[in-house]
Amino acid sequence: MNIALIAHDNKKNDLVQFATAYQTIFSKHTLFATGTTGMRIQEATGLPITRFQSGPLGGDQEIGAMIAKNNMDAIFFFRDPLTAQPHEPDVTALVRLCDVYSIPLATNMGTAELLIRGLDEGFLEWRNILHKNGESHER
Ligand code: PGA
Repeated sequence: MNIALIAHDNKKNDLVQFATAYQTIFSKHTLFATGTTGMRIQEATGLPITRFQSGPLGGDQEIGAMIAKNNMDAIFFFRDPLTAQPHEPDVTALVRLCDVYSIPLATNMGTAELLIRGLDEGFLEWRNILHKNGESHER
């Protein structure tokens, strides 16, 4: 599965800890991240991660483009609800696309635990079937 990892600055430590704790599961998947988040997780875990631009410079939109092309299977996006973000429109757009295409999105540690465990149990295998059939988000 293709998985995206994003964390706002005040949440980066949480996501690094989370990725470290679940490194074994994450290592079975193909990881993508916004620039700084990806660097932090790579440093902490050594996991291979394709890094996009930093979020405020377009990284959220790059991940959004993958969602639109049905190339992203799950998103871990630890948002900071207490700090205004310069790229709030991009954040909203990313969350919106997850809802448009029913892509699982964990925005906090509580949901992230459920999503990673569900992923490991095979709850998202339906997405692999879609990929095998070469299905896009045709409407
Ligand atoms: P960053 O971007 O990983 O480059 O910090 C995340 C964000 O703030 O959206």
